[in-house]
Amino acid sequence: MKIHDMFRSGKPVLSFEIFPPKRDGDVSSVIRTIDELAVLKPNYISVTYGAAGSERGLDTVRMASKIKNEYHIEALAHLTSVGASEDDIKRILSTYKEQNIENILALRGDLDPNTVLQSRDFKYASDLVAFIKREGDFDIAAACYPESHVEARSKTTDLIYLKDKVQNGVDFLVTQLFFDNEQFYSFRNEVRSLDINIPITVGIMPVLNRKQIERMVALSGATLPEKFKKILVKYEDKPSALQDAGIAYACEQIVDLLSSGVDGIHLYVMNKPEIAQRIVQNISGILNTMK
Ligand code: FAD
Repeated sequence: MKIHDMFRSGKPVLSFEIFPPKRDGDVSSVIRTIDELAVLKPNYISVTYGAAGSERGLDTVRMASKIKNEYHIEALAHLTSVGASEDDIKRILSTYKEQNIENILALRGDLDPNTVLQSRDFKYASDLVAFIKREGDFDIAAACYPESHVEARSKTTDLIYLKDKVQNGVDFLVTQLFFDNEQFYSFRNEVRSLDINIPITVGIMPVLNRKQIERMVALSGATLPEKFKKILVKYEDKPSALQDAGIAYACEQIVDLLSSGVDGIHLYVMNKPEIAQRIVQNISGILNTMK
């Protein structure tokens, strides 16, 4: 099933993001993660795409195929074009087709300042989107950034390029994580005022430890609201208290987002199904009453 059709029901779409095991990594623990996430009945599960290596796509395909063909849950396979040629992408796309994977999150990928791993064929995600559109009948998702992408020259240019990307054939958007909902609401208003009317699902990352958040904030440039910083400082040496507070914070964010009519919630669960379980348990009544 194409994921953009799920948004037509008007009910918020619930999804989880996992990362695949590395080639020599522990597949069984990722399978256990999927087992536990499947019980929560998400609308789809997305699988990230490794940052480097010539066979990086295979790990993603393998897990996305399991989710789709063994668990019968829709899969969203991430795909990055950084360092890839058209032929590389064609090969990956034909594997996706063989595995019956219909939904792709098309990304440029992070540029590595230490390597020359750039792509001659795809400078931006918008080029990848246009290419995928020509190559097959896929549902195409793309990333968007409520607080602007870290490399963006300005908020305005970031939005203009987002519009170009969408016009090349994007069916729905998934946001970068954020901790301040107001940032998302003003972004959504700007996006809609540009006549970008496709669904936007919001990426929420529950804090599990201070290091993880500091790394994510450095990568994403997300603003940390004062009440969130207080939690980090107060409980940084008390992992279980920090986790409780992080889950409570994520739930509060989600309740507010659902009440404001978001199209979907995408949980960055970082292969920790117990976190997803606790969050879904907290909001299941709300999700069930949403139409
Ligand atoms: P783009 O849309 O190409 O944007 C990148 C930058 O280029 C932006 O600053 C934009 O303003 C600018 N730009 C765009 N078009 C133009 C133009 N025509 N001229 C000048 N500037 C332009 N990374 C992974 O490696 N694997 C993953 O699985 C993965 N999953 C992700 C999932 C989500 C939901 C998100 C939000 C990010 C994910 N990333 C992943 C990270 C992503 O690859 C990085 O954020 C990357 O730096 C940008 O990718 P993009 O597709 O948004 O790029």
